[in-house]
Amino acid sequence: MENTYNETMFILKKYGITANKSLGQNFLINDEVINTIINCSNVSKEDLIIEIGPGLGTLTSHLLEKAGKVIAIELDKRMITILNERFSLYKNFQLINDDVLKVNLKEIIDNNLNNNISLQNVKIVANLPYYITTPIIMKLLEDKLEIESITVMIQKEVAQRLTSIPGSKLSGAITYSVNYYCEPEEIIVVPNSSFIPEPEVESEVIKLNIRKEPPVKVDNEELFFKFIKASFMQRRKTLVNGICNSGLMSKDEIVKLLIKLNIDEKIRGENLSMQDFANIINNIN
Ligand code: SAM
Repeated sequence: MENTYNETMFILKKYGITANKSLGQNFLINDEVINTIINCSNVSKEDLIIEIGPGLGTLTSHLLEKAGKVIAIELDKRMITILNERFSLYKNFQLINDDVLKVNLKEIIDNNLNNNISLQNVKIVANLPYYITTPIIMKLLEDKLEIESITVMIQKEVAQRLTSIPGSKLSGAITYSVNYYCEPEEIIVVPNSSFIPEPEVESEVIKLNIRKEPPVKVDNEELFFKFIKASFMQRRKTLVNGICNSGLMSKDEIVKLLIKLNIDEKIRGENLSMQDFANIINNIN
């Protein structure tokens, strides 16, 4: 922890900066965790890395040594000054001062892959701002970007939901979305003392390996995800109640469908597998 801790304290002092809590700023100072993130991301010179929220540039400095190119997207102008000074000599560094949720990632990726033939793969690596973890991950997945993997530090509780098996106790609607688009992997649980300032929650690094094909065939993806969301809206209710309260189908329609598919009418949404949801959607006329 010594090296990165000293470096972080030095930069904060030099620029007279304190972390902005509302931007989710918890700077990583644990060298072991930093090495784990870099190693499990499998970064090579053929990779375009997109880093979300580079902050003071701790992960960025490692990524720049290993990647073909690093594009870092940071909202806080104070960090932009630091990052520009710190990495001015790196030709493979590009900084975007914007809200990651507003950036057109597809365009950025297409432009870079088309204009630089040595870049073959795109990987996302980040210690994410926890206040917008879910919208960021859903944007990365739903935009259907040409990416190979997403390696991120997030809140441990969220990590466990995202990496659990759909239909298991810890799963939620988002577990199905994540598992539809990727194969999730838990990498390492990270203690609070690995950051300055310490976050109030425990953290975990996960890796989402993007699937080439979804694990189930679904005729109408939009309806599939709407249906799953509606099933989890009222966790204690049966699937039938959840769906008819959402207005997606009438009670009669959903009951008939469950009987046709041999699924218990009293089942709760959280007990259905991804294949069960796919069968339901593919049998709606
Ligand atoms: N990567 C650094 C590290 O590991 O020490 C900082 C990580 S810190 C948890 C999250 C970073 O995301 C902060 O630098 C914060 O300013 C930035 N951030 C917060 N909201 C953002 C947004 N909407 N778009 C881009 N960056 C954002």
